[in-house]
Amino acid sequence: VPHARAAIISTGDELLLGQTLNTNSRWLADRLTSLGISVTEHLTLGDDQEALASALQRLCRSSQLVIITGGLGPTEDDLTRPALANVLDEELIEDPVALAHIEAWMKSAGRPMLPAQRTQALRPPSAHMLPNSAGTAPGLAARHKATGCHIFCLPGPPNEMQPMFETSVVPKLRALADSGKDGVSGHVILTRAIHTVGIAEADLAARLGPLMHRRTSPLVGTTASRGIVSCRIRAEGPADIARRQLAETEAQVRAAAGDFVFGQDQDSLAGVVLELLKQRNDRLVVAESCTGGGLAALLTEVPGASAVFLGGWITYANEMKMHELAVTREILDRHGAVSTQCAQAMAQGALRAARDVARPPGQLHALAVTGIAGPDGGSDAKPVGTVFIARATADPGAPMESAEIEVRRFLFRGGREAVRERSARMALAMLRLKLAGLRTERLLWEI
Ligand code: ATP
Ligand code: MG
Repeated sequence: VPHARAAIISTGDELLLGQTLNTNSRWLADRLTSLGISVTEHLTLGDDQEALASALQRLCRSSQLVIITGGLGPTEDDLTRPALANVLDEELIEDPVALAHIEAWMKSAGRPMLPAQRTQALRPPSAHMLPNSAGTAPGLAARHKATGCHIFCLPGPPNEMQPMFETSVVPKLRALADSGKDGVSGHVILTRAIHTVGIAEADLAARLGPLMHRRTSPLVGTTASRGIVSCRIRAEGPADIARRQLAETEAQVRAAAGDFVFGQDQDSLAGVVLELLKQRNDRLVVAESCTGGGLAALLTEVPGASAVFLGGWITYANEMKMHELAVTREILDRHGAVSTQCAQAMAQGALRAARDVARPPGQLHALAVTGIAGPDGGSDAKPVGTVFIARATADPGAPMESAEIEVRRFLFRGGREAVRERSARMALAMLRLKLAGLRTERLLWEI
């Protein structure tokens, strides 16, 4: 049985004009894929009833499932209802339950119902309304008689669309899959992302070798974003076979990527580092120059970071490096703010300053970043993108001279933003290697 093919139509002039980023189709495609449904087409259309109707006609013939987002609102540019009625060859009728919901919603918002809002209660007679828990416009579920294609119309705003998909569409798709009807049965699509840091995408691809051949199943591909290179595995087929294939391929990918692997699927590098710190009951402080708080931001994005992340310093000016972290004038004069010595002194200063704040049972770590993000400020000896990152670790009770310190020099490319983002991630990568007790391999961009 070929598994279900789905198409997604996003409507709205604002999407076509580039004023709104189409996040709905990305989100829906991801959810459908994880439900074992193959998304074969994304289409974006303006607020144009005829274009929508003819696209819907066409896609009903090639897909088992079409999801439309947007155009369910009360204004004249909201044309999904009439387009659907047109394709189903039906006349719109008013749904009393939907009308009551809209009235109640407006009343609870303390506003009168406008005549235009009545149009949101319209549906083709053969279609069902999908309740909207976050707004006025109900969605629609319909069946295209000629082809049997299932059509779902969902609101445009993501905060309305997503809960409606989960509450009203997912159970319907599950029921179809279970009943084995309409070609939605049997097959699953399983995906797994394996995340690495510190290795180049091309190097990872070389290690994966024949696993990445496009015609092999499961499909294996790599993506790189902000210093994280991920390997995505996708296995399709009957559930038991797909599950086994995914597990086998995952083991091969993990073996090939080795120590560079830090997590999978939803794992973030900062989350993994914080978890390692928690397990050891260690604490972390940061001292940032060129990242300007970006490292702390990555850490505090993770809920619960406060259990192990104490805080840090943004010492952008030399005076702040001296005043807050006791970096000496001599280091700055002789070696400069962007140097091994300065990174090391910043990390030591952070350790010293934080030592009295918390006397954790475990160790205290400091990460310090100093570099030239550009576009100006580079030199022949230290071109733009030169960043020194120090990682220092000490027992809070012991004298600071016994701290263990490691400094690495990197040369990042790709502009100011890339330099800053990659610096923050490489700092985390250095700490991860230490915490995981891994042999400190040379990291990507390290020179
Ligand atoms: P409303 O009742 O708010 O008019 P609607 O169902 O008519 O809902 P649209 O008018 O098409 O939806 O879109 C409303 C808003 O939802 C847009 O201005 C946009 O901010 C957001 N939106 C619509 N489509 C998308 C999309 N594909 N991705 C992200 N946001 C979207
Ligand atoms: Mg609208």
